[in-house]
Amino acid sequence: MSNTCFVQVALPVPLPQLFDYLPPQNGPLPAPGSRVLVPLGRRKLVGVVISLSDRSAVAAGRLLPVIEALDAGQPILDAGLLSLLRWCWQYYKHAPGEVVVGALPPALRNATATLPIPPQRYLLTAAGRERLQRGPGRAPVQHQMLAVLADGPCRDEALTPIGSQWRKTLAILAENGWVISEPAPPDQPHPVSGPTLTRDQDEAVAAVLADFGRFRCHLLDGITGSGKTEVYLCLLESVLQRGGKALVLVPEIGLTPQLLRRFRHRLGFEPAVIHSGLAAGERLEAWSAAGSGRAALVVGTRSALFTPMPRLQLIILDEEHDASFKQQDGFRYSARDVAVKRAAELQIPVLLGSATPSLESINNASEGRYAWHRLRERATQAALPSWRVLDVRQQDIVGGLAVTALDAIAETLERGEQAMVFLNRRGYAPVLMCQSCGWHGSCERCDANLTWHRSAGRLVCHHCGSQRRAPRLCPDCQADALVGAGEGTQQLEEVLERRFPDVPILRFDRDATARKGILDQHIEEVRRGHPCLLVGTQMLAKGHHFPGMTLVVIVNIDQALYSADYRALERMGQTIQQVAGRAGRSDKPGTVILQTLHPEHPALDLLLSKGYEDYARWLLEERRLAGLPPAGYQALLRADAHDRGSVERFLEEAAALFPPGGTRLFGPMPAIMERLGGRSRMYLVLQAASRSELHGQIDPWLPCLRELKSGRKARWAIDLDPQEL
Ligand code: ADP
Ligand code: ZN
Ligand code: ZN
Repeated sequence: MSNTCFVQVALPVPLPQLFDYLPPQNGPLPAPGSRVLVPLGRRKLVGVVISLSDRSAVAAGRLLPVIEALDAGQPILDAGLLSLLRWCWQYYKHAPGEVVVGALPPALRNATATLPIPPQRYLLTAAGRERLQRGPGRAPVQHQMLAVLADGPCRDEALTPIGSQWRKTLAILAENGWVISEPAPPDQPHPVSGPTLTRDQDEAVAAVLADFGRFRCHLLDGITGSGKTEVYLCLLESVLQRGGKALVLVPEIGLTPQLLRRFRHRLGFEPAVIHSGLAAGERLEAWSAAGSGRAALVVGTRSALFTPMPRLQLIILDEEHDASFKQQDGFRYSARDVAVKRAAELQIPVLLGSATPSLESINNASEGRYAWHRLRERATQAALPSWRVLDVRQQDIVGGLAVTALDAIAETLERGEQAMVFLNRRGYAPVLMCQSCGWHGSCERCDANLTWHRSAGRLVCHHCGSQRRAPRLCPDCQADALVGAGEGTQQLEEVLERRFPDVPILRFDRDATARKGILDQHIEEVRRGHPCLLVGTQMLAKGHHFPGMTLVVIVNIDQALYSADYRALERMGQTIQQVAGRAGRSDKPGTVILQTLHPEHPALDLLLSKGYEDYARWLLEERRLAGLPPAGYQALLRADAHDRGSVERFLEEAAALFPPGGTRLFGPMPAIMERLGGRSRMYLVLQAASRSELHGQIDPWLPCLRELKSGRKARWAIDLDPQEL
C-alpha cells in the first residue's frame, strides 16, 4: 500500500490533535489548506487539511474516507498561514482545530458555503467587433451590449442598464465567442499627497522603507497627535505603489468611520475591512477579496490577523498596547505577538505604533530587538497639555466632581471650547446601599457589587451581566434608606446637566452607545467643534482627534494605585496619558485635571512630572527585580468550576505533577475576582527566566494533566503570556 495517502485534518473540537482520513472516494484529492467535510463519530464536520502524508499512526483499516473535498479541493489558506497557525497551536498549546477553523470567516465553517466569485470584467473579442460592425439585425439588445463593450472592458455595473435580462444576453454573446470574461483587476489606488512630513516622521518612514523585503520590528513611539497615522499612510502608499499588500490592525474601538475615511481619502480607494461585528456575508466577501489578491489593503481588528494575503509586504499594528489585541477566552493569543511572528516568517517589516507602548515593546526596543522611533512633538505644533492635580480630600465635591473642576469646565465652555470628563465606571453608582443597616447589592454569582443603573431602575453585574430590578426599600430592614455610593458616568452626566443645562452633553460608554451608529454620531458631533461636554469611560481614551477639546478631567483612577494585578500601574499610566492626549490637539493649549485621593503617590508623581517613558522604565525596573514579564516569562494554568473544592483539587494535583526544572510554580491561588458567573476561578502561576525553560516544562506536563480524573470536574486551560489575573 505504498501509494496510500492519508489526509491530516484540523477539526473544530477541543482535542490536542489532528485527525487522519483516507482520500475521498471520488473527486479531487484535497490540497493542504483546503476545506473538507469529514465524519467524526456520528457527526459530519468541516475541517481544514493540514498535510498529506504517506503514513498514519492509525491502522488504515480503521480510517474513514473524507466525505467531500470542498471548494474543489483548492486551498483557501496558503502555506505561509498554515505554518503560522501551526506555530500558534504549538506555542499557545491550544487545540489545533480550534485555532485553524477559528481563523476562517464564520461563514466558511459551514459545508454549504463557498467562496464568492470574484468580480468579473468582460471584453469584446475580434469576432465580437466584427459582429458589431454588421449592425443590429434582429438582435438590437445584443447589439447594444456589444456597443457598450466596444468602449473597453466593463464590469457588471456598466451592463445592468441594458435591462433585467442582461445576464442572458451576455451569456449568448459569450456562447458565440464575441465576449470573454476574466477576473476584474483590483482598483487602482489614486493617492492624494498628505502634509510634508516632519523630520522625525520622515526618519521613521525611511527606516521602515529601508527594511522592505526583510523582517524587522519597528516601534513607533509617538505622543498623541504626533502624526503616527501620517507615517502609516506614507508607508501604505509606498507599499501600494510597488503593487504590494498591507495589513493594518487596530483596537476594537479604534475602527471608526473617521479612520476609514482618512485611509480612503489619502489612498484613493476603499480598504477591505474585517472585524467580528460584520455580517457573515460581508466578512466572507472581504476575506476572499484579500485572499484572491483583489484587496490591496486590509484594515481590521484582532481576528483580521489571520487573513490570507498574497504579496503581503507590511503589517502595521496601531495602539499596540491595547488590551483588545489579546484574546481572553478560547484560543488565548496575542495578536501583537503573532503579527510579529507572521512578519518574521514572511520576511517583511512590522510597525507597532503607540503613544504609550507596552512594557514588552519598550523592553524589546531598549534592548535593540526593535528599531525605536520617537515622535516627541505634536505634528501640528500644538503644545502638550498642562497638568493640575486636585487632592479630593481638600476640595468641595458635588456628585463626584470637584467644584474647582466644574469651574474650569465652565470657563472652557465660555471660551467656546469643549471639555470631557473621564470616569472608568458606567452606570449611576457602583453600588446601592442601605444607610440604615449597611445592606448593599452584590452579585450572587460573582465577587462583585451590582452597579446601580438608576434610569433603567436596575442593578447590573458588570462582570457576568446578570441583573435584577433595583429595590425601592432595603431588602433586609425594609427601611426607605437606599442610596447610591460612589459615582458612575450616568451620575456625572446628571450632575453636569444640572450645572450646564444649555450645553449638549454626550455620554460615551457601553450603555449609551449600545445601538449601532451612536458612537460614530457622537464622534461626528464633537468633531463639528461647537461647545459641548463629553462624559465617558475608556471609550474616550481611544485615538479620537477632537480639535476643539481643551479640557480633560480625570476622575478617580485611584484603585489602580493599590491593585493586586501587577499590570494595573502600566494600564493606569496608559489610560491617563491617552485620555490626557485628547486635550489641546490643535492650536489652543489643553489642560488636564486629575482628581485623586493620593496626589503624593510616587507612581503618579513620576508619570506627571517625567512623562510616560520614564514612568515605563521605572515600572520595567520593578518588574525586573521581581522577575515578572517582560523580564521573565509567565503562563497560567487556569481552572474554574461551580465548587471551589474541585478547582483546588485539580490544581493541587496538577502542581504535584509539574516536572522539575527552573520554572517556579505558585499557587493554587484565587483569581483577583474569584467568583465570576457562578464559578470559582483559580490558577497556578508558572514563571521562568527563559521562554524555552517555561515551554520545555509545560509541554511534557500537559498530557499528564489530561489524564487527571480531577480535571474532568473542572474546566481548565493554559494561558501563555497572560494579560489578566
Ligand atoms: P497620531 O496618529 O499620532 O495621533 P495623526 O497622524 O492623527 O497623529 O496627526 C495628528 C494631526 O496632525 C492630524 O490632524 C494630522 O493631519 C496632522 N499632521 C500629521 N502629520 C503632519 C505634518 N507632517 N504636518 C502637518 N500636519 C500633520
Ligand atoms: Zn437596610
Ligand atoms: Zn455577576
